[in-house]
Amino acid sequence: MHWIKRAFVLFLLLWSGVSLAQTIDAMRLSETPSSGVRFVADLDDKADVKVFRLENPSRLVMDFSRTRFGQKIAPLSPTGFIKGFRTGQPNAQTARIVLDLPAFELTEKHFLLSPQTGKNWRFVLDIDKVKKNKTSPKETAIPSKKSIPTKKIIVLDPGHGGQDPGAISISGKYEKDLTLKMAKETKVLLEKQGYKVVLTRDKDFYIPLRGRIKKAHEANADLFISIHADSAKNKTAQGLSIYTISETASDKEAAALAERENKADILFGMDLTDYQPEVGNILIDFAKKYAMDQSSIYADFVVDEMKKEVNLREKAHRFAGFVVLKSPNIPSVLLEMGYLSNPKEDKLMQRADYRKKLGMALTKAVNAYFKKLAD
Ligand SMILES: [Zn+2]
Repeated sequence: MHWIKRAFVLFLLLWSGVSLAQTIDAMRLSETPSSGVRFVADLDDKADVKVFRLENPSRLVMDFSRTRFGQKIAPLSPTGFIKGFRTGQPNAQTARIVLDLPAFELTEKHFLLSPQTGKNWRFVLDIDKVKKNKTSPKETAIPSKKSIPTKKIIVLDPGHGGQDPGAISISGKYEKDLTLKMAKETKVLLEKQGYKVVLTRDKDFYIPLRGRIKKAHEANADLFISIHADSAKNKTAQGLSIYTISETASDKEAAALAERENKADILFGMDLTDYQPEVGNILIDFAKKYAMDQSSIYADFVVDEMKKEVNLREKAHRFAGFVVLKSPNIPSVLLEMGYLSNPKEDKLMQRADYRKKLGMALTKAVNAYFKKLAD
């Protein structure tokens, strides 16, 4: 059954290929010297491009008419104040690229460059911050209602809460209380390093798993860390582990997810309801791949830092299909601090100095991760 579906998708792609004139072969985002952002698309031929803005949330849309995306096209990376982007085909004739815009005022200009030696057609779009008052020494201040966009945003998610206690430790302590303490303490450590930190809950109440993802999106998170503690029947089970979504699990789940959920919800802000279902799935996979790779990079940094400090499980970076890790475009990890069912680890995790060690290691891993991202 599966190959029939695949063959059908392939057919659609080939069919759309013959009816369209241009191909976008590559696209990239870069920061300009004036702290603006430049978007460039390489095209194999001249294209008509319609550029317009949509509000709530604010985004810029580029519609390339009679154009399709090339096969080898790589996803964009977050650059400057552009944190989110999507690609899609609102109809069979149009290739659409959407950039999420920050809250402050922007100017935009775009032009098409004809081919020069060795180069293709290029569509170039520049977005710049509006300079308010040139003579004012405060010129660099960003007139923003939201947070300063250069501050990376970390969302910490203390597991469980309210009527859901999570695991109960061998000494009778609740996982939900431990995770909340850990999140609040780690928030302080991260803030000292200049990050903006948002907690999915700061008190003892219940949040559904999808609600946690939603909060991460509303906060415009650069990284999502869910905090838990493990439990097992075997009292000797021990060690810290960190989970990310696996490629295999995620492929299956992405398909199931796409059937169950409202697709517009999945790629936040982008309405997929008019799309053929095949195209919708391709777009979800596309965004997911990037977030999955980034999640793994961060998880590996966590393992590197944690192994200097505390006892880890064998193969501490693990893969599973946790619902809270299913954001298609926010790198997400789930930390299991240790085993509440193990008397020794239970005692350790209830200690503030031990949690500080864990929090410091998480923070160092965050630093390493964003440093790598900037390289
Ligand atoms: Zn848990």
